[in-house]
Amino acid sequence: MKVVESDEGEILDIELNEDFLRRNRELAEENRKLLDQHNVRAIDVMGSIGSGKTSLIMHLVTRLSGRHKIAAIAGDLTTTIDAERISSSGANVIEVNTGRECHLDANLVRKAFSELNLEEIDLLFIENVGNLICPADFPLGAHQRVVVISVTEGPYMVVKHPFIFIDADAVAINKIDLSQAMGVKVEQLEQQLLVIKPGLKVAKTNFMTGEGTEGLIEALGL
Ligand code: MG
Ligand code: ZN
Repeated sequence: MKVVESDEGEILDIELNEDFLRRNRELAEENRKLLDQHNVRAIDVMGSIGSGKTSLIMHLVTRLSGRHKIAAIAGDLTTTIDAERISSSGANVIEVNTGRECHLDANLVRKAFSELNLEEIDLLFIENVGNLICPADFPLGAHQRVVVISVTEGPYMVVKHPFIFIDADAVAINKIDLSQAMGVKVEQLEQQLLVIKPGLKVAKTNFMTGEGTEGLIEALGL
């Protein structure tokens, strides 16, 4: 099989510019300091469009709002659909519209902080833009990263996107009720995840019903 590969620095993509990535990491560290000063734990929620990021946050807000003061930042290209859904579960939500950007970056998250009262919360969910590629390269300053994958993304989605899982603290394999119809084995996805990152915490979920939410709460130590 003939394979065409790009050489280092050859891709005409501003996102791969080392200066941009370094500047983002610096801003992410500043975000982390600000969060720590206010005793806020932040969780970056990543995954494809339609994998279940918003539903995950809604279930966590519902289960945890008794013992945490929660806010959320919802990243999306142009719509406020996710922010409105999360808001309906009871959390204070700041919408961040990224326009054409296919990921959140530390600067946008910092701007969202200025719309939140960090003194009033202790847990912050950040819903990243639906994308499995570049969010991995843009830390936001969050303390933990969770990736939501869905069996509807097929049997090869894990092996095709290793980088998003390397820095993840937990993964939710969602829509497990559809695994048979999709011909995707949940255990196989879990095995592939553990090859990429041994010890990774994996929760098997169905966020239509909330099944598995407790396992995810445990995986994240919330
Ligand atoms: Mg969403
Ligand atoms: Zn991007």
